[in-house]
Amino acid sequence: MPQYSRLSLPMILLGASLVAAALLTTASLGLPPWHGLAALPAAGLAWWLAGLWQELRLRRAAMEAAPWRAAIYGRDHGLVWQNGRGAGQALLEARPRLEQVLKAALWHLPPAEREAEISRRLILHECADGEAAELRDAAGHWMRECKRRLPGGAVASFAIDISYVGQGQAAPAESEARLRALLEAAPAGIWQIDAQGRTVYANTHLARLFGGAAPESLSASGLTLTPALPDPAHAEVPCGLSPGEREALLALPGRPALRLLVAVSPWVRSEGGAMGCVLSLLDMTPLEAAQERTGRPAERDPLTGLANRATFQAGLDAMARDPAGGILLVADLDHFKSANDRHGHGVGDALLVEAARRLREVVRPSDIVSRLGGDEFAILAPGALPDTAAALAGRVREALGPRLAIGGGELPLTACIGIACAPAHGAEGEALLRAADLALREAKAQGRNTAVLFEAGLRERSERRAELREAFAEAFAAGELELHLQPQQDTGRQEMVGAEALIRWNSRRLGRWISPGELIPAAGEAGLMPALDRFVLREAVRIIAGWGDRPDAPRVLGINISVTTLHDPAFAEEVAEVLALAGVAPHRLEIEIPEDLAIRDLPGVARTLAALRVVGVPLALDDFGGGHSGLPHVVRLPVQRLKLDRSIVAGLPDDPKSYAVLRATVALARSMGIEVIGEGVETQGQAFALRRAGCNIIQGFLVAQPMPVEELVPPLPEHGAGYGGQRLRASA
Ligand code: C2E
Ligand code: MG
Ligand code: MG
Repeated sequence: MPQYSRLSLPMILLGASLVAAALLTTASLGLPPWHGLAALPAAGLAWWLAGLWQELRLRRAAMEAAPWRAAIYGRDHGLVWQNGRGAGQALLEARPRLEQVLKAALWHLPPAEREAEISRRLILHECADGEAAELRDAAGHWMRECKRRLPGGAVASFAIDISYVGQGQAAPAESEARLRALLEAAPAGIWQIDAQGRTVYANTHLARLFGGAAPESLSASGLTLTPALPDPAHAEVPCGLSPGEREALLALPGRPALRLLVAVSPWVRSEGGAMGCVLSLLDMTPLEAAQERTGRPAERDPLTGLANRATFQAGLDAMARDPAGGILLVADLDHFKSANDRHGHGVGDALLVEAARRLREVVRPSDIVSRLGGDEFAILAPGALPDTAAALAGRVREALGPRLAIGGGELPLTACIGIACAPAHGAEGEALLRAADLALREAKAQGRNTAVLFEAGLRERSERRAELREAFAEAFAAGELELHLQPQQDTGRQEMVGAEALIRWNSRRLGRWISPGELIPAAGEAGLMPALDRFVLREAVRIIAGWGDRPDAPRVLGINISVTTLHDPAFAEEVAEVLALAGVAPHRLEIEIPEDLAIRDLPGVARTLAALRVVGVPLALDDFGGGHSGLPHVVRLPVQRLKLDRSIVAGLPDDPKSYAVLRATVALARSMGIEVIGEGVETQGQAFALRRAGCNIIQGFLVAQPMPVEELVPPLPEHGAGYGGQRLRASA
């Protein structure tokens, strides 16, 4: 029976009016009055319901007025109800799951600890039994929280703000003095800075670390912490520093022997929002010296704070010995060497530190993340089952994926990944590492940002590739490489206007022709791409020189040059020299730029491209529309021609999407004075569709297959054999 179904004036009035209405109704129907008394049970029920309703209303009002936050989470961890002391209606409408609420509340913890704490709290939630636990909410308040399971599986949570507990125990001045004394007694430098990086407070220990006086600001300290990293969750954290999880071993400028462990935590207003940072600086020099004295290698990589190779090795051996097995993942950053060479070691270090931070975020607290050296990282996940390997690789790729804003620009941060599982792929640490390395090599051969899981066939494939690499290194000296030419035709005037030179290799050692699809990755792996490009350049210029002004020869000969070579600023000078020596006009040689270059690293090759334009060599963007480059990239490239990719041409004339790409490309190119060539044209229908869209120049099997030079432009009888004398022999 509800407490509020006691007699009260409204209740009495309601009951009386129901009975009166019943009596009046029976009288008007001409029935005896005692018939009206049958309405009494209905009046009783209405009375009881009204009491219940009032009681619920009062209970709810009491919950809303309570000084603590009350909430109910459903069985599925979703927020069902909360009182006005929660984050309000917006939160209720968003219905965040408990995991999300906890993640936001525990943002101040380092990621690994945060994950562990979230798991612990979820377990507490599952067996809610009234035990109280402390937590800090997103606004920085400390709360004491108590949970109780409700009938039906939902859980009620009550939390009270305890941030101010104890404040009344000491006068403010006294407690501040006590706090200062504590900060001064700490064996670490403690440094509070505001949003602009200016010093707000520094203890004496900090001043001592800086040689007597605390710096006025972070920038004046000369301390370079990790550069500004976009962190959407805590974008308001100032000074380019990320929240509390940041910890790094650093040296002070001018005092390289001093090793400082620096930890950074945001300083948060009570109503939320960061207004600075607190840095704690711990002098690690005595510890490191002691470690060196005892001959024990340090366990951490000083730059990234990850486990170092020795720690990794110990973990790997332990995992290999353990019957529960686990997963070994090795990752090698793409583009690292070129970023380091081009932007300097500071940027290189920042890339490594950021990669380390992202890797740490995707593993369990018990996993070991280590830097094996250079740009190579490893993750050991002891006890993880082989069928979770792909998910781990996926998480790593996703975490590394976003480009890194640095020095006013953006750099890609992707990696190739090799994975091996214990015990299936190796019973000992060494065998496991070999397997993962093999998978990594396979991933690199497949291209950037790729993950490969070890399988037995990889060994054979790797041996075949090694053989190919060796044979290719010999191919230069043996004169096995040659250029075949594929003509480009003007469909309006029905004449050959140009040609593309394509590499061909008939290997004596391997006893077969090797396609560019196989040859180019082998050359890349053997580091022979620059040599191949230089061979192609000299050979093409020699061929053009041999043609002289013959009207039946192509007016321009295109060559394919790799990104590696285009990164070399001296390449343009070399091209100018080769052309001048052979007496060939620059406009007769065209350089085709690989299409994905546009998104991969335009700034890296921009100088070479500009210098090539100064030399007077036309540039073409190859395979346009086949991969990642889009029309906006074209605007940023100093190209004179776009070579429309075979995949677009293949969709013509029937595929409306291909036709739309074609029309848009031609329209944009025309407005920028760029010529469009259709590549891989095999049918009259494709040629016609291209022409209708305004693209008159085509290259493809419809016109001719790539062919030896002498077939495209037969030598004149008086010239005898060959063009311009001896064929070149390239040196590797
Ligand atoms: P690419 O530069 O786009 O060259 C065009 C490719 O398409 C050539 O393949 C050519 O034989 C093929 N092709 C031409 N017309 C048709 C057609 O109508 N149908 C079909 N299905 N294919 C057609 P190839 O010679 O196998 O070369 C493949 C790629 O290898 C080239 O694509 C280029 O990216 C690279 N490559 C070739 N030679 C060199 C070289 O000397 N140096 C460099 N760095 N890369 C080269
Ligand atoms: Mg090409
Ligand atoms: Mg192409």
